[in-house]
Amino acid sequence: MLIILTVFAAVTAGLLITYGFLAFKKGERKGYMLSGAFFLCGLIYVLLAIALFMPSHLIGALYSVGLGILGWVLYFLTLFVEEMCENPMSRTRLRLFQIIIIIDSAIYITNPFNGFAVKFDPLDFYGVTLCRAHFGPVFFIHGIICYMVLFYMLVLLAKRMMAFSVYYRARYVIGMLAVFAVIVSSALASKYTTSGITDMSLLFLVILLAAVFHLEYSFAPRSLRLRIHRFVSDNIADGVLIYDHKGRLISANRLADEIIEDDTAKKVNSVKDFLGWPETDQFFTQTIGTRLFSIVYKQIFDEKGIFVADIFIFHDITDVEMRIDREQKISRTDSLTHAFNRKGFFEAANEFLYENESEAGFALMICGILNFKSINSCYGSRVGDNALRTIERRFRDHHHSYPMLHGRTAEGKFALLVPFDYVDELASDMSYVRVPVDMDVSVRVDLYYGFVVLSDVTKPLDFYYERALMALNECKRRNAVGALEYSFEMEEKVLRQQELTAEMHNAIKDGQFFVELQPQIELETRKVVGAEALARWRHPRLGRIMPGEFIPLFEDNGFILNLDIHIWELAAKTLKQLSDEGAYDGPVSVNVSQVDIRDMDIISVFERIVEETGISKDKLHIEITESALADRRDLLIYTMEKLKESGFVLEIDDFGSGYSSLNALMHLPFDVVKLDMEFMKNSNLGGKNGIILNSISEMIHALGAEIIVEGVETETNVENMVRFGGDVAQGYYFSRPLSTEAFKEYVSNHR
Ligand code: C2E
Ligand code: MG
Ligand code: MG
Repeated sequence: MLIILTVFAAVTAGLLITYGFLAFKKGERKGYMLSGAFFLCGLIYVLLAIALFMPSHLIGALYSVGLGILGWVLYFLTLFVEEMCENPMSRTRLRLFQIIIIIDSAIYITNPFNGFAVKFDPLDFYGVTLCRAHFGPVFFIHGIICYMVLFYMLVLLAKRMMAFSVYYRARYVIGMLAVFAVIVSSALASKYTTSGITDMSLLFLVILLAAVFHLEYSFAPRSLRLRIHRFVSDNIADGVLIYDHKGRLISANRLADEIIEDDTAKKVNSVKDFLGWPETDQFFTQTIGTRLFSIVYKQIFDEKGIFVADIFIFHDITDVEMRIDREQKISRTDSLTHAFNRKGFFEAANEFLYENESEAGFALMICGILNFKSINSCYGSRVGDNALRTIERRFRDHHHSYPMLHGRTAEGKFALLVPFDYVDELASDMSYVRVPVDMDVSVRVDLYYGFVVLSDVTKPLDFYYERALMALNECKRRNAVGALEYSFEMEEKVLRQQELTAEMHNAIKDGQFFVELQPQIELETRKVVGAEALARWRHPRLGRIMPGEFIPLFEDNGFILNLDIHIWELAAKTLKQLSDEGAYDGPVSVNVSQVDIRDMDIISVFERIVEETGISKDKLHIEITESALADRRDLLIYTMEKLKESGFVLEIDDFGSGYSSLNALMHLPFDVVKLDMEFMKNSNLGGKNGIILNSISEMIHALGAEIIVEGVETETNVENMVRFGGDVAQGYYFSRPLSTEAFKEYVSNHR
């Protein structure tokens, strides 16, 4: 019997200490308090177990000390419950109980000396000497207090529990019942060890401990977990199938039911068969029905590496794929013409060549639209857009005749892959298109072409594109008809441009740029009334380079800003020097590029220059082409207005070349219009053209502006310009652009 009791006490102690340890591991304040309580309980059982082997008076002493310790356990618990309690009244009550418990437990701990609560005498228990307890009134008061506290706390806890879901409540009941079983047996045991009156507070105490422990720390019960799991798996966007080690279906969520047919889903092997026997950890995509799935197959193993389950996860990627497809298509298409854009063309070209290269040799053609910017600014972007659509449609019509591919690879450019036997045919078929401007008015849009033969299809298309572009630019420069084929010289030209680009910065520092002055002659008096400053580059190796070569280059790479400021300064200094010497006192005109207006504050630059050189503002004439900044009209108008307000003289350069617009004259402030001789040359000046020219010049004069005619080369030119009201002439007939020295001499001869 003694052995049984010892083992029982030891096991109970072990259980409580384990609980204490678990609670301790939780780590928080509550955990520590609970673990303290569990350890103390465990200690009591240890004491009881030891006491069984001791003389009876010591058993009694230990018993009462144990009860004292129990008081402390109770104290811990009240602290714990107090923390959980939200009602301030209940908290106050608990604090009151705490004070009473402290006094009560002090009486018990000192009981071996004072015997207030209980006295003992020896008792023979089946040959084991135990002791019989005689309880005094303090013991009963203690009992009542303990039960009151315990019941009160149970009520508080029960209230807390009621606030939780039924799942959690069920869990507490199970936990409490389990511990209850242990306690009842231990209480019965203790009944036999003492007189038969047992302090039942121990029983309640441990029940309470266990309840608290479960309330705070137990895991969710299985049914709750399963229910939550089911909810989650039914609501995720993936289908999930799980099979056990024998290949039997354990779980299939709602989506998996929809994806895989019931019969197939039943056995793992039929699913594997359906999916083409995937390997474990394999990711793959497969179309099932009308949808596309990204599928993961995984075998699950336990910690020892023994196979336990098969899992399939089906992720529906149909919409994503469709969106990617759509986006890709959008990213490859030009939204205006619905042809390929640059990216799309390059991607499609590789495929196209792969499929067609055996049938024919191909050429890469680039089609440019002549004066596309001017078309946009003169007729509006609606007409420009229409032109692009028309061209695209016409190219598309050619697809019936031979294998070809086309796309819009830049603002006003189309790229085409065409069998090279058809290059000329296509270029002449499509030398221009007509685009309606109004109900019954249409505009002719001229096209020009550069092409290169794809002699080596292993070379990237970029390589050929660059070359076709060179041919295209050359075609434009030469005003060539039809398609111009790329030649090595074009590449040399590009190389030369690269060389110029590399050296341009040093060229300014080294003073390689200079200006020539071209005299402007007043027809009436035949005197020099002005001069245009034209930029020149004296290159140490390449010799004299004309602006026609470097200005467009610098406009592209942005260096024009540096060059123009430099040239304007040179022009102003030259003028100052000439007037100081008394050689020339007229104005000088400088050229402004549209890039200057767009990218810098030319107003303050000019103001600084006149201030630094000390020339007067009206001596500096500023030439701006009217077609400049077609798309930033407001900026152009603003800049010109400010310059004029500031006192500079404004000249509209190259009026009449290309697509000039009267519209520009209407909105821009100006003092001089420079008419291009070309304007008067190539047409029949007797008829309609003559009338128009006369009206324009009358109009300009009526606006109070002067007309300078540029490019006057012959006597006939002079006659013509007199006829059409030109005031001043500039051209080779009078003089080529001259060095400063030569200009001085020219002026002195034409005073
Ligand atoms: P532009 O402003 O229209 O200048 C007139 C151009 O016509 C000059 O060419 C001039 O040499 C040329 N020219 C003069 N008389 C005749 C003639 O009778 N017949 C022919 N066929 N041409 C004549 P240049 O000097 O080659 O300049 C070309 C263009 O380069 C200029 O055209 C101007 O737009 C630009 N440019 C020149 N210097 C500068 C500059 O410093 N800055 C900027 N941004 N552009 C400049
Ligand atoms: Mg000019
Ligand atoms: Mg000009």
